[in-house]
Amino acid sequence: MVTRLHPPTVDDVILIDDVVDQRQQGRNSAYFERIRTPWKMRIRNYIRACGNPEVLVPWADAVKFKTRFLTLYNSPKLNSVQKPVLEKLRERTLQMCPACGEDGTPNTLDHYLPKNSFPDFSITAVNLSPMCDKCQGKKLEKVLSNDGERLFLHPYFDEFLDQQVINLRIGEPYSAPESMELYPSEALSQELQELVFRHITSLGINIRYYHFFREQYTHLLGSAADIRDAGLEMRQQLVLFRNKARRKSVNSWGHIFYESVLANEELILHLETAELPELEAWAQAYKEEAFAERRGAV
Ligand SMILES: [Zn+2]
Repeated sequence: MVTRLHPPTVDDVILIDDVVDQRQQGRNSAYFERIRTPWKMRIRNYIRACGNPEVLVPWADAVKFKTRFLTLYNSPKLNSVQKPVLEKLRERTLQMCPACGEDGTPNTLDHYLPKNSFPDFSITAVNLSPMCDKCQGKKLEKVLSNDGERLFLHPYFDEFLDQQVINLRIGEPYSAPESMELYPSEALSQELQELVFRHITSLGINIRYYHFFREQYTHLLGSAADIRDAGLEMRQQLVLFRNKARRKSVNSWGHIFYESVLANEELILHLETAELPELEAWAQAYKEEAFAERRGAV
């Protein structure tokens, strides 16, 4: 669902020095020279606090002059030191969104701490990561819950994202599941489970996953019929599907789906022995409207 990314290789503290040096010819040279040292301190604090907004608070001296920082991000000059850094971060090489795990190349760069409230981190590489439009539209300027707890996982610093952090529960009947539920892995500490829960609910991942689930489940029933027709062993084939999805990420949507199937003995028995519906009939029985009503519980 969420994928950990290797942190950018750029040294964010040195980058600030280089930016301030370049500002010496600019209009706001005195301002940037004055904040050079505290600005670098802010970057060091960000890295030490792993970007955690429970610890890091906005910096009044930067917020007051935020346009100066936003210009560095929004319209970097051709020869500016930050331009190649930002271009590198914008390289569209990922095949899934690190924030939600959905397949596809993420379109935008997200500021983990938003650039309007934390303008001093607007060009800080460890504060920037690719994100899909759907996640971006949900995240906006949010950082903390009403209780002051951080809402989002950090793709560079939350190392526990190397393991599977979200599980799927498939509700009966297995001929056409009436419910599905994503929930944080019970292998995580209580604190991390709560963080993962805030992340998936804040980004609306549970609702979005439902559409994927329906399609995957249809494929699963179709594949089960094929596996039986070919005289193959059900579990072995499901393991192959699972492993293929895992190559993308343990938190990819497909891996979470097949892990859930493989952990469910009753479902596997159903796939092995139950009468499988014709796919068209099944899809009809599985009306989206009826499911949507129950979806409130997801
Ligand atoms: Zn996303």
